[in-house]
Amino acid sequence: MDPKIKDQKNPSGPVTLKSGHKVWVDRNLCIGAGTCIAVSPKAYVLDNEAKATILNSIDDDSIENIIESAKACPVAAIIIEDAQGNRVFPK
Ligand code: SF4
Repeated sequence: MDPKIKDQKNPSGPVTLKSGHKVWVDRNLCIGAGTCIAVSPKAYVLDNEAKATILNSIDDDSIENIIESAKACPVAAIIIEDAQGNRVFPK
């Protein structure tokens, strides 16, 4: 397993960010398009199944850019909740 992955047991999340937001990738939806990586290379990397997984360095990116990366996903596979458990994206 890649040591740069934030949660070794749940490589596609959910992970909790410093902001308290929760982020995860729905692996059933992800088609490996890589658009999320283009927007936030600190947050994601594709695994050997071409599914997006979440990097430790996601904490170095802003929540605003991470939300942009979720919006950029063509199949809306990236899900974000705020610290209160409210859905931020997709609505
Ligand atoms: S943009 Fe969406 S479909 Fe493409 S790799 Fe990222 S999560 Fe998967």
